[in-house]
Amino acid sequence: MVLLSYLLHLLTIQGPIPPSPTASGTTAANMRVPRAAATMNLLRVDLFQTWLAALLIVGSGCLIAGALLYARYETIAAGRGLTRAIVNVVAEQTTRTVQAVDQKLQLIAGQILKTNDRAAISERATDRVLRAHLKELPFVHALWVLDEQGRIAADSDVGNLGISLADREYFRTYREHPDTGFFLGAPVRSRSAGTWLIVAAYPLRDVQGRLIGVLAAALEPPYFEKLWGAINIDTGGAIDLYRRDGILMVSSSAGNPAIGLPTKDPEILSAVRGGAATADARDDAQDRLLFGRTLDSYPQLTLVAHRSLDQLLAPWRKFSLLVLAIWLAACVFVLVLYRLLRKTWTSRADAVTALSASEQKFSAAFRASPDAILITRQADGLFVEVSDAVLRITGYAREELIGRSSLALDIWCNLDDRARYVADMTSHGRVNDMQAAFRMRSGEVRIGLMSGECIEVAGQLHILGIIRDITDMKRREELIWKQANYDALTLLPNRSMFVDRLRMQIDGAQAGGAMFTLLMIDLDQFKEVNDTLGHEKGDRLLVEVARRILTCVPDEATVARLGGDEFAIILPAAVSAAQVDAALDRLIAGIRAQFMLDVDRVFVSASIGVARFPQDGSEMAELLRHADQAMYAAKQSGRNRYFHFHPGLQAAALERSTLISDLRSALQNGEFEVHYQPIVDLATGRMRKAEALLRWHHPSRGPVSPVEFIPLAESSGLILEIGDWVFGQVAAQVKRMREIADADFEISINVSPVQFHSDGQIADRWLDRLREMDVAPQAITVEITEGLLLDLTQEVDDTLRAFSNAGMKIALDDFGTGYSSLAYLRKFDIDYLKIDRSFVRNIDSNADDLVLCEAIVAMAHKLGLSVIVEGIETQRQNELMMAMGCDFGQGYLFAKPLPVR
Ligand code: C2E
Ligand code: MG
Ligand code: MG
Repeated sequence: MVLLSYLLHLLTIQGPIPPSPTASGTTAANMRVPRAAATMNLLRVDLFQTWLAALLIVGSGCLIAGALLYARYETIAAGRGLTRAIVNVVAEQTTRTVQAVDQKLQLIAGQILKTNDRAAISERATDRVLRAHLKELPFVHALWVLDEQGRIAADSDVGNLGISLADREYFRTYREHPDTGFFLGAPVRSRSAGTWLIVAAYPLRDVQGRLIGVLAAALEPPYFEKLWGAINIDTGGAIDLYRRDGILMVSSSAGNPAIGLPTKDPEILSAVRGGAATADARDDAQDRLLFGRTLDSYPQLTLVAHRSLDQLLAPWRKFSLLVLAIWLAACVFVLVLYRLLRKTWTSRADAVTALSASEQKFSAAFRASPDAILITRQADGLFVEVSDAVLRITGYAREELIGRSSLALDIWCNLDDRARYVADMTSHGRVNDMQAAFRMRSGEVRIGLMSGECIEVAGQLHILGIIRDITDMKRREELIWKQANYDALTLLPNRSMFVDRLRMQIDGAQAGGAMFTLLMIDLDQFKEVNDTLGHEKGDRLLVEVARRILTCVPDEATVARLGGDEFAIILPAAVSAAQVDAALDRLIAGIRAQFMLDVDRVFVSASIGVARFPQDGSEMAELLRHADQAMYAAKQSGRNRYFHFHPGLQAAALERSTLISDLRSALQNGEFEVHYQPIVDLATGRMRKAEALLRWHHPSRGPVSPVEFIPLAESSGLILEIGDWVFGQVAAQVKRMREIADADFEISINVSPVQFHSDGQIADRWLDRLREMDVAPQAITVEITEGLLLDLTQEVDDTLRAFSNAGMKIALDDFGTGYSSLAYLRKFDIDYLKIDRSFVRNIDSNADDLVLCEAIVAMAHKLGLSVIVEGIETQRQNELMMAMGCDFGQGYLFAKPLPVR
């Protein structure tokens, strides 16, 4: 237990883990105290303790084993000592008993020899003597006297006289060794009772010393057994009395089968040699301790005590088992205790190792951290330690910083930031994510996100500050914000920012009860510029338009590009109504003025919608919608102008949406009808062709002009379905006309650009239809407008070629109203040029129109195109066109569009 407590002591004297140096060091360098030595010490102690525990267990085991062996030795020695004592006592008793017999026999012999001569031995009086003596000898069974010849001459028992016992050992011994005195015979079985008897004999000699008889007594061995039985000799042990010749005379173990037989342990008898001796013996697979002693007065008799070693050692064994059990329990206890303590210790070692690792990491992190880490003294703000990142970011050398303050180095761009930092640090002991601008050594300004905490180092308050350089992140954020809020091309706010500004404007105006004006600008003809001069010039035009817009509006205005050629302007409350009108005029004129894009002169105009807050809309969506409607109205009413929103526009817009919804059901309701306007061969006056013109009989409004509903059908996509229906009607009609009137009759059909752009299937669909109806494609002319060619895609090109390859004719409708590019005429396989009726209307009065028409006709003919003139209403117009060489004419003069009944 002493050792155990020592072990406990050893395991607990490690003491608490030393406090972190961060709390006691003065600089970051001090914080780098390695823990490796402490860890090594703990590892050494661990090893030592393991060995100590093992040594304790093995050592205590050896000690206990030694002690037990010693105890065994002592037990055996004590056993031997006790055996010796027992044997001595027994020897004393046995000697007295044998002596009693010996002396009795001598006494009886003396009596017999004194009173009788040889003849008198057989006298009966002798029997009486014997019987009288026999009563005094409790352990003697019988007494008798043999005569010279060995016959029983006298006997304590009656009836044995005359029987010869000359063959008995004792008689023979006296005959052969006449000097023999007291004699003990080997045990014999009683002839009468069958029990063991030992015959003690004494010689009867006459005065000359001749043997005249033998006095014998039959001793009962059980007497000895009883005598010795009182002596406590353990089970398995026994006391035996041997004669010198090794015959077992008496044994303390009752019924010993070896009685009368020679000893099995002759060694002990020979070892005794008249004295005493010990010996070990082994028989019947058990070890025995022997102690022998010759009786001093009767050297022919030897007492031998046997003790079973097993029995002797039984208490020792029990004791040993108990000791071993206690020792094992103690070992288990020590091991469990050691394991527990070791676990505790290991976790302490792990903690120390982890702490050491974490300190190393901290040290490495301090040096390698991408963030700037600074330790400053709170009292005077002097830098005590700075990380490498500080040097890298600021450009200062360590020596330039340590021992100086940020104030002295003029690092703060804004001293208010510093004041806030100091105030927070003083009141809360920490600063979290404070953003500030810092001046680098080169003068460059960088933005840092700063966090700091007060720490105590060597009893002094310090500030551990971490500054993350977020300059690049800020710039990126700014860029992203700009990209998200500004138009990259014109650098004006984009739709998202415009919406924000408009919301702010509305909120402000609502709160202050002020009004402001919203302008929606859509450029006219921008698409043409883009298509003809390319996107690069289109972009430059937009940039220039943006610049001009900015010069036309007051500084307080917000100008945004919403996308494409769409701009929006917020003219805030500060801008008066007169200023708004002036700005509108400037905008119209400014945008209308020519743009020079390199060598190209470009003219565009603006359609502007004006909506005022709150009269024209108090909600943002409403205001935007109304400005849009006003802009749409400006476009509708001829472009290059501004239009103030008024409720009538709202009604028009409403009507448009109602019409669209009516249009959806018009086809199913059979409200459409195709009218045909004849096209006349001017040279012959014969009707060779007709144009299919769609009519809508609205159930409540009556006829609706295609000029009104076709754009709605286009914007709603219904034109596809409607167009296919018209085509079916036309195909059937032309088939009929060819059958009944003119085999070469042609009908032209107006096809909207939306139909071309829709799904690219129109050519296949229509040509299949013609095949199904057995109509020659040559009977159909497709009327397209310049707009389609301006917005030419591969899909449109393929469709046109498919029509034309199949034999259908292509007519360019409304020529002269659009861009009127001659390039198209060369580029595409066009059959007819339809001169718009706007040229024809004033042809008789306007010389310019006449010249223009003549030029178009001449040019078309040169390019191999036939010319159809639209809108011939008067004979004069007819004549002029005929004179010009126009091929075909169409107009009210010949016929209005008519239904087929
Ligand atoms: P457009 O293709 O240029 O058709 C000629 C227009 O001029 C027709 O007007 C016709 O009635 C009108 N017109 C013909 N001769 C004269 C005349 O002597 N004097 C006057 N004042 N007008 C004359 P409409 O039928 O109102 O059609 C207008 C436009 O609607 C058409 O112009 C065409 O672009 C479009 N349109 C008509 N039907 C269809 C159609 O089925 N599909 C498509 N996509 N557009 C159609
Ligand atoms: Mg037409
Ligand atoms: Mg036309």
